[in-house]
Amino acid sequence: MLKFVREEVESFMQGLVKRNPGEDEFHQAVREVTESLMPFILQHPRYKQAQLLERLTEPDRIIIFRVTWEDDEGNFRANRAWRVQFNNSIGPYKGGLRFHPSVTQSVLKFLGFEQIFKNSLTGLPMGGAKGGSNFNPKGKSEHEVMRFCHSMMIELHRHIGENTDIPAGDIGVGGREISYLFGQYKRLSNTFVGTLTGKGLSFGGSLVRTEATGYGCVYFCENMLNRLDDSIKGKSVCISGSGNVAIYAAEMAGKLGGKVLTLSDSGGVIHDPDGIDEEKLAYVKELKEKQRGRISEYAEKYRKATFHADRRPWHIPCDVALPCATQNEIDQQDAETLLKNGCIAVAEGANMPSTLEAMKAFREANILFGPAKAANAGGVAVSGLEQSQNSLRLQWTHEEVNTKLKSIMKEIHEKCVHYGTKGDHVDYVDGANLAGFVKIAESMLAYGAV
Ligand code: NDP
Repeated sequence: MLKFVREEVESFMQGLVKRNPGEDEFHQAVREVTESLMPFILQHPRYKQAQLLERLTEPDRIIIFRVTWEDDEGNFRANRAWRVQFNNSIGPYKGGLRFHPSVTQSVLKFLGFEQIFKNSLTGLPMGGAKGGSNFNPKGKSEHEVMRFCHSMMIELHRHIGENTDIPAGDIGVGGREISYLFGQYKRLSNTFVGTLTGKGLSFGGSLVRTEATGYGCVYFCENMLNRLDDSIKGKSVCISGSGNVAIYAAEMAGKLGGKVLTLSDSGGVIHDPDGIDEEKLAYVKELKEKQRGRISEYAEKYRKATFHADRRPWHIPCDVALPCATQNEIDQQDAETLLKNGCIAVAEGANMPSTLEAMKAFREANILFGPAKAANAGGVAVSGLEQSQNSLRLQWTHEEVNTKLKSIMKEIHEKCVHYGTKGDHVDYVDGANLAGFVKIAESMLAYGAV
């Protein structure tokens, strides 16, 4: 990076850190985007004059509220919840809700900020938002989760709506939680509209929404490989996580002929040298989605597999890595190990799974690196399609939605190639940031000082 560009980045980041003290995850996400955008902004003075970066990094509003609920022993419990409505320049706010004890305002601001660019990349009219709570659904009974969701919606419903803000799922918020949230929203608003996405199929959900993020991530990876006349077929694939994104990334990687070697959770990683095929994956789905069990149980059932407690998958040699668990799960050392072992492609199913140092290592090695805002945009894209179906009051078939998902991922890939090509190489990080930015920037300029 040229010296004066570097100085502009540092000066901007200094101000941002001062305005948002202690929000490390938010700083990290903004730095990654700023490093991509700054040369472009300096070439286009109208963006700088309009203070676009400063405005884009300031959320439209953040709603913070207490959620009081009653546990099974009759004790009152209280959690904190947020909705970060970041930017609605190109459409109503849209983004998931996360329930996890690690949720803070910084985490939700980083996720909301990323969501602005991701939603823009999909080509659909959706602004960026994120929300959630430090509530931990793990170990809670069905009734406790229900009471928490119902209580949270009593406040949240005032701030959302089909034309205002449309939440969805994320870590700790799956079909069960969305159903409780939607049921309560429906009651409080006395409407039946598509204000939440990820709904059950019998009450307005879309086919392929459950699979969309994982499938989309693999489609994006396949697009990157196809551009080099290669494909996932015959490749070994390491996947982290064993939640919604990981399971369906594993399913599609297998369908396209890849051999999935790992899955993980916060307890550790399982390594199956024979590959996690369709039948074994059906067991994982049952284990994680229905029984809410631990991934270590896989190694008890399939004896050739090994369980490595408190480890991540990245020490296991693979051609393709799909991080699908959580933020900062690949650090510099993990990245170097992956590269040393011959990894040729990384596509991020999770949000910001690679640290800045890990990203730098991948980009400097010139391997295929699909950043989250492009590679995992399939989830929100199908959420957008769920909204369209709700507005039209009809339901598209599995094939129709899957075809649309595939074509959206292909278009996102093409946008990244358009904006990120440098000689014979594509920098997908710069490509995704720039392609996402331009559409929002033009809208913000058109609105004037709003
Ligand atoms: P789930 O809750 O379904 O699964 C999360 C998985 O990641 C679990 O296996 C969980 O293990 C593991 N995990 C979570 N936190 C940690 C941690 N701190 N350390 C190790 N493992 C961890 O969530 P999703 O699959 O929906 O989300 C995964 C990622 O994908 C997130 O980054 C999310 O933001 C991103 N994403 C999700 C989308 C969606 O449509 N769901 C859309 C786009 C992005 P354990 O059960 O032990 O906690």
